[in-house]
Amino acid sequence: MKRNLLYLFAAALLTLTGVACTEEPLSDISVIQDSQREENEFDRWITAHYTIPYNIEYKYRMEDIESDMNYNLIPADYIKAKQLALLTIHLCLGAYDEVTGSRAFIAENFPKMIHVIGSPAVRNDGSIVLGTAEGGQKISLYSTNYLRLDSIQFLNYWYFHTMHHEFGHILNQKKPYSADFKALSAKDYRSDSWISLAVNEDDALKLGFITAYASSEPGEDFVELISVYVTETQEQWEERLRKAMPDNPDDEINGKDLIEAKFEIVYNYMLDSWNIDLTALRETVQQRQATINTLDFNF
Ligand SMILES: [Zn+2]
Repeated sequence: MKRNLLYLFAAALLTLTGVACTEEPLSDISVIQDSQREENEFDRWITAHYTIPYNIEYKYRMEDIESDMNYNLIPADYIKAKQLALLTIHLCLGAYDEVTGSRAFIAENFPKMIHVIGSPAVRNDGSIVLGTAEGGQKISLYSTNYLRLDSIQFLNYWYFHTMHHEFGHILNQKKPYSADFKALSAKDYRSDSWISLAVNEDDALKLGFITAYASSEPGEDFVELISVYVTETQEQWEERLRKAMPDNPDDEINGKDLIEAKFEIVYNYMLDSWNIDLTALRETVQQRQATINTLDFNF
């Protein structure tokens, strides 16, 4: 089964690892699977807002069969799982609905299961898994118990960048992108060694990668371009391009030109293959990001 991992060698690693290793009290409401369990209010909300409109299962209880046993994981807190469920519709699914004019695109293409997990998943090499997508059918999101509503940067970093990233992989699996994309940075991808070489974000930009993780392989590069573009503002995008400019005009690689050339392929792919204008999608996501304080999480 193909599995895509978006992971990060974070400066905050030690802190997070520490957090991951401490024992956490469970919330009052049990999220442990009980085969006889009765539906609660949230389950009914999920049926109305995920199952019926999108045929998506939003799973917040911990079930061994659905989680990766390589990690020592903690279930999602009930309140945080509810918040993330509403935010996912507001910032991701609903944004696609708005630009495509219906829920059909998400219902047809989005993975059939979103599984939220309370704790981060820390790999043996020390990197942190932000999310996984398996076989186009399931997206797992970690660190739900750290969800905060007061910072859009935080929400993007931990959840929504990951969601757009993983969804990008799924779209690519359904409709491949042109081989021209792979040729542009062909000699500069570094597979898993992007971690050991500790490519920092600024160096990555100079090499023509929108993030350090984008330098791992073409598939990651492609979806990082989608994800960063959609979740960040025009100003943030331009700031990245500015940092990507060569220090010296004679430099062999012009990171800005490379990123722009790759992004043009990404933009045209989304438009031609999926009829999605990434600029319109970004505008919608930005408007929605600005209104999360109007959402009612008491459902
Ligand atoms: Zn990925």
